[in-house]
Amino acid sequence: MGWFAKTRRNIIPSNVWEKCKRCEEAIYRKDLEKNFWVCQKCDYHFALPNLDRINLLADEGTFEEFDAALASDDPLQFQGVVPYRERLKKSQAKTLVKEAITTGYAKICGLPVVLAVFNFDFMGGSMGSVVGEKIVRACENAIQRRHPFVLVSTSGGARMDEGILSLMQMIKTGMAVARLSMERIPFISFLADPTTGGVTASVAMLGDVILAEPGALIGFAGPRVIEQTIKQTLPKGFQRAEFLKEKGVIDMVVHRSQAKNTVGKILRFFA
Ligand SMILES: [Zn+2]
Repeated sequence: MGWFAKTRRNIIPSNVWEKCKRCEEAIYRKDLEKNFWVCQKCDYHFALPNLDRINLLADEGTFEEFDAALASDDPLQFQGVVPYRERLKKSQAKTLVKEAITTGYAKICGLPVVLAVFNFDFMGGSMGSVVGEKIVRACENAIQRRHPFVLVSTSGGARMDEGILSLMQMIKTGMAVARLSMERIPFISFLADPTTGGVTASVAMLGDVILAEPGALIGFAGPRVIEQTIKQTLPKGFQRAEFLKEKGVIDMVVHRSQAKNTVGKILRFFA
């Protein structure tokens, strides 16, 4: 049977079965989809596509996107190994969206919110000038309508192709969130795997309540860079959601099956 299981794993068509990255179990894709991409055997949380994340949190049929047409203009005319303009086009064709964040109005457990969800499939969820602008507009809409702001992050950090303009989004989004605070609008920040770099160093860590998915990598620089810098071995589980919860960096580690209910409860508390 062991041989059979091994063989089956090797010959399974990838569009029907998915292999769990942690326990290596082959899982029927339809079951995974039904389970919001959590392994039923070992509880590993697969990366959740942007649209599935919106469906996970928002009440059915309530999400109304805004600023969907905003797209980057390649302000620096950046020529990397692949020119920025080309990379953008490729990402847009792959994900069918214009940028690495989707923003809109929604209801969660019957309560109205402004919801913003990073899209890791779009250039690693990197924050360039358009992502920053969309977060600011989302905050402004939240203030105008007096709705809480819910942000789900999954990002590699700043978008290198936009240089300093990308770094400026850290202060720009930070200022927008400060305005939410002055207007007494609650901000729930939900961190998914991975949340790193300039997004961690700005908007993602400024939530009134900070939630994270189990096992999510959350940090600024990667562990290898830190080890090389401080010349010390890092503790086990460093930069993972559970470790950060223990250290008081985040408030709660929330299983995906409980994500919506938990956000709903927090919203009711603030309401
Ligand atoms: Zn598994």
